[in-house]
Amino acid sequence: MRILVTGGAGFIGSHLCERLLTDGHEVLAMDNLLTGSTDNIAHLAGRGDFSFIHHDVTNYIFVQGKLDFIFHLASPASPVDYLTYPIQTLKVGSLGTHKTLGLALVKEAGYILASTSEVYGDPLVHPQPEDYWGNVNPVGPRGVYDEAKRFAEAITFAYRRYHGLNAKVARIFNTYGPRMRADDGRVVPAFISQALSDRNLTVFGNGSQTRSFCYVSDTVDGLIRLMGSDFSGPVNIGNPDEMTISEFAKFVLDRIDSRSSIVYRELPEDDPKVRKPDISLAIEKLGWKPVVELEKGMDRTIEYFKEQLRV
Ligand code: NAD
Ligand code: UDP
Repeated sequence: MRILVTGGAGFIGSHLCERLLTDGHEVLAMDNLLTGSTDNIAHLAGRGDFSFIHHDVTNYIFVQGKLDFIFHLASPASPVDYLTYPIQTLKVGSLGTHKTLGLALVKEAGYILASTSEVYGDPLVHPQPEDYWGNVNPVGPRGVYDEAKRFAEAITFAYRRYHGLNAKVARIFNTYGPRMRADDGRVVPAFISQALSDRNLTVFGNGSQTRSFCYVSDTVDGLIRLMGSDFSGPVNIGNPDEMTISEFAKFVLDRIDSRSSIVYRELPEDDPKVRKPDISLAIEKLGWKPVVELEKGMDRTIEYFKEQLRV
């Protein structure tokens, strides 16, 4: 197939491009490099089955030739990034989703929106199943991301119902791995780069909030399976192994020989207190569940950051 990946120069997008190429597809990566980098796809440059288009998807998108499928991943994704780029985040979730859906319609292409566990906000139901409608503060700082993705889901399903587009929604939970930016503020790159440079690990709040971390190859595999299935979602793609952020900090210090200790900093506004996907639907409809253990995934990620930070 000929497949467009928006956000293709980002963390998950670059891994998705690689996997699609391995599976024998032709890939077009489109990105405006707001939070991504061509470094992530430099190793793919020059291949006949891969091309990069530098473009902001909130503007009209023109792609020459046929397209069979579109993955819409373009969006700032880390809390630090979407607080830095609040308007761009709202625009790419709304206008960018509209433009990519319109493109899918004219090309008669299938479509997957990369949505997020943030649509559940600070959840009152735990773990989170897809039929939970969420607890989001629309005017809080995280609202720019949460509401953009909620709008994106709504317009994706409207295109599905109204235009009959083969459009699907994946709700991705915390994903980690090589090619995250050391300074993107997310807890995995933050703790690893702090530990590798003997700086103290900054746990926000008292560290009792929970997250469940999924290795990037598992997340990508979930997206590929959704593309190949008849199921439209929304479907949670994430790892249900939950831990507190304090436990995660200790886990990182156990794996990296470091002089760092743990310090506590103020909890950001509206930081979700718990997060863990219910993946029953992914198991049932996609035959998918994560397979990479945290130890293994983290060791690969630590190796990547050692090279990046040259320590
Ligand atoms: P990322 O920041 O590494 O990648 C996003 C990419 O989108 C970047 O390369 C950025 O330059 C690009 N982009 C942003 N605005 C754009 C625009 N207007 N036009 C074209 N390109 C644009 O983030 P990521 O972690 O790889 O996230 C990818 C997608 O997955 C996002 O949609 C995010 O919301 C979703 N997601 C990620 C996670 C996670 O844990 N990583 C969790 C839930 C959802
Ligand atoms: N966090 C932390 N220290 C950091 C960065 C993040 O304690 O240096 C916490 C953050 O408050 C949140 C969790 O780690 O509770 C996960 O944060 P991240 O930014 O990775 O993603 P989120 O799941 O909040 O979108």
